[in-house]
Amino acid sequence: MSAKGRKLTPMMQRYEEVKKENPGSLLLFRMGDFYELFNEDAQVASKVLGLTLTSRDKNSPNPVPMAGFPYHSLDGYLQKLIQAGHRAAICDQVEDPKKAKGLVKREVTQVITPGTLTDESLLDPRESNYLTSIHITKKGIGLSWLELSEGKFLTTETTHELLFDELARLKPAECLISDNAMTPEMEEELGWFRGMMVSKLPAWYFAEKECQEQLLSHFQIKTLEGFDLEPDSASVVSAGALLSYVNETQKSALGHISRLEVYRQGNNLVIDEATRRSLELTQTLRDGSREGSLLSVLDETVTSMGARLLADWLSNPLTDIEIIQSRQDAIEELSNDYLLCQSIREQLDQLYDMKRLTSRIATGRSSPRDLSCLTRSLALLPNLKAKLTARTSSKLQELETNLDLCPEIRSDIEICLADEPPLLITDGGIIRTGYNSELDEYRELAKGGKEWIAEYQAKESERIGIPNLKVGFNRVFGYYLEVTAANADKVPEEYIRKQTLQNQERYITPELKEYEEKVLQAEDKAIQLEQELFQALRDRVNESCHRIQKTAEVIAELDVLASLSILAVNGSYCRPEMTTEPILDLREARHPVLDRLQPSGKFVPNDARLGTTDGKIQIITGPNMAGKSTYIRQAALITIMGQMGSFVPASEARIGIADRIFARVGASDELGKGQSTFMVEMTETARILNTATKNSLVILDEIGRGTSTYDGVSLAWAITEYLHDVIECRTLFATHYHELTELCKTLKETTNWNVAVQELEGQIIFLHKIVEGAANKSYGIHVAQLAGVPHEVINRAKIILDTLEEDHVDDSGKTKVPERSTRSTGQKQLSLFAAEPHPVLKEIKQMDLNQMTPLAALEELHRIREELDN
Ligand code: ADP
Ligand code: MG
Repeated sequence: MSAKGRKLTPMMQRYEEVKKENPGSLLLFRMGDFYELFNEDAQVASKVLGLTLTSRDKNSPNPVPMAGFPYHSLDGYLQKLIQAGHRAAICDQVEDPKKAKGLVKREVTQVITPGTLTDESLLDPRESNYLTSIHITKKGIGLSWLELSEGKFLTTETTHELLFDELARLKPAECLISDNAMTPEMEEELGWFRGMMVSKLPAWYFAEKECQEQLLSHFQIKTLEGFDLEPDSASVVSAGALLSYVNETQKSALGHISRLEVYRQGNNLVIDEATRRSLELTQTLRDGSREGSLLSVLDETVTSMGARLLADWLSNPLTDIEIIQSRQDAIEELSNDYLLCQSIREQLDQLYDMKRLTSRIATGRSSPRDLSCLTRSLALLPNLKAKLTARTSSKLQELETNLDLCPEIRSDIEICLADEPPLLITDGGIIRTGYNSELDEYRELAKGGKEWIAEYQAKESERIGIPNLKVGFNRVFGYYLEVTAANADKVPEEYIRKQTLQNQERYITPELKEYEEKVLQAEDKAIQLEQELFQALRDRVNESCHRIQKTAEVIAELDVLASLSILAVNGSYCRPEMTTEPILDLREARHPVLDRLQPSGKFVPNDARLGTTDGKIQIITGPNMAGKSTYIRQAALITIMGQMGSFVPASEARIGIADRIFARVGASDELGKGQSTFMVEMTETARILNTATKNSLVILDEIGRGTSTYDGVSLAWAITEYLHDVIECRTLFATHYHELTELCKTLKETTNWNVAVQELEGQIIFLHKIVEGAANKSYGIHVAQLAGVPHEVINRAKIILDTLEEDHVDDSGKTKVPERSTRSTGQKQLSLFAAEPHPVLKEIKQMDLNQMTPLAALEELHRIREELDN
């Protein structure tokens, strides 16, 4: 504005300064009881928030656009701004306006970004809210993530290829990256993550030395090796940059971030982005909602801490048998004692979100009510701990040991805090009567003054004979006497008129003002003292925040284990035997989600014996809607559940620990994707063939569908051979290419399966039962017949089918596919569907192109066209 040569008021000068210091954020500037936005910010806010756009200095030639809202509506408006993808810097008055000399001091007290939310009202209680930071180097990529509202901070080294799988796993709200690293390709790839704000930071955020310093000073340590980190690694840089960013936006202590954990991929089952999506682990393919995902079925948790941890377990299944078994032991113990389990859950149900409470305490943003919630939660813990004593599983014993009741913190808060404290620190009534004698005195004074005023009302009303005379209070005049207009003439002379309303007259008297002074002074002092006492309490509690945090972790884990126990009992799940052998042996297994959605007992269970009697590869054929996809997915879902420590929907299960799971859905089965679906399908298939190991589990659903039948069959065939010969991993392949059933004749680890169908009174019944052998080939025609397609068409179709099959099968009845050793030379044999060449082709072949002028060639072309058109 100053560029336009206009003189700014001191207030607007301050605004401009603050605005410059906070680029990229909407600035919410506190003025009196309002937050105001100016210029472009005001325009954006008026659209997003539906605020009226007005202007400051309306009469000047360049009025400043302005929009604002009352300070107490901040939360609601912030939520809308963040959801619309904005960041907001909150500039508050940091001194008491009454005491300010000149302009009230204003500072930015917090910058709110999607990845740094801690406020309860801005967060989904059941979802983690991650801030991530990426540092790209020639050696590798450093990736760090922080859940600020819990203080959970992790870092890892990854590669460009795996980076996006990691991001898919975390579903971050915000991602930090250096300006320098933001190539157009990167921008596009990061753009794929809907709902993730990408925050480009100046490159100096990612300076190696500063990042190391940042971490050392935050954790107050001398060396990073204690965290098992190489000081010059990319992960250290990404973590350091992340911490600087959080420091800068929060502008508060971050004591609850007490360690930096190194995440190692080898300890977890690797599930890439496409697999996560197609297995619908945490959200459905159709509309991305949680409802209908595996997570929604597994989640019986009663606390939001537990709900978030369960999602974390599901996103990170384990590979370490011992840890898996320790979870299983706890689930087994709890599900054997259903009553105990239920009573533990009843206790848990009453707890507040202690993780998020702790983070608000650590960042100095806890309200009186937060501390009250904390102490009410702590009060429930002794009972909970008692329920955990004398347990046999080591996991439950460990939880019992780690459950710190924090009795000193609890009694400190209980003694100090009132029973029903207010939400805001600025409101009175935070501190319990009897806690501080000075405070009690002020309160007495204020109370005494108020009593005097009440008596004064009665006395005056009688003295001057106006029964409805009232004492009122407002911020502008303080206490006043109010009479109706009709009685105004009875008012004595010493009353000083202050205000005339439509039906009332308001007066003050010197006596009233004297007591008012006393009341207000005492109230002011009381509130100020309350704030000091509360602040001191908050500081004391903060000193123990690590203890509360640890206890909150115990509670979250207990909730998840109890939730999985209830699930196991209610769903009649079994405890799977985990093994390192590459097998998957499931008896009477069910699809966890469909089994839940269908009426009880309707879902048809099926066995799978991969790597045992059935070989490593199962080819599953059968008509549409028979249940192929369901069958192969349930194998993958059960493996994932097993590796997260859960029981599984089967009567018996032996699960060989998988290092990776791949699930691919053929192009046309996947909804809502762009045109190059076949390319996507093949890129993903390439990835399996390049990265799967002997210990992986591969689920292929109609792969090859996105191209012509020829291409499709050939690719599917060759892919299966490769998985069988080279990778040797457990594979389930659902396909409608009947040709593939021939594979079991040449590949010894391959077996054929189909889904049983029954014909009853002219109706087709899908039995959903997986049975050995290939599906009945003519089934499609059979279905058409049952559906009432005319006989002529059916008969003709049968003849065509016979011809095609003859052409396609050799004398011994085998599908004509070249021997594997001559893969590249056998193309001619695949003459399926090929027709007689068109006569025109013959004609073209006979032309002597070397002897023809271009014009003659064109004329020939014309002639052919005309012939064809006739
Ligand atoms: P396909 O892949 O063979 O076309 P799906 O696996 O998609 O078939 O299954 C189609 C529908 O059949 C499912 O949506 C489900 O309602 C039902 N279904 C599949 N398997 C079973 C089963 N084992 N028990 C009961 N219903 C099933
Ligand atoms: Mg299917």
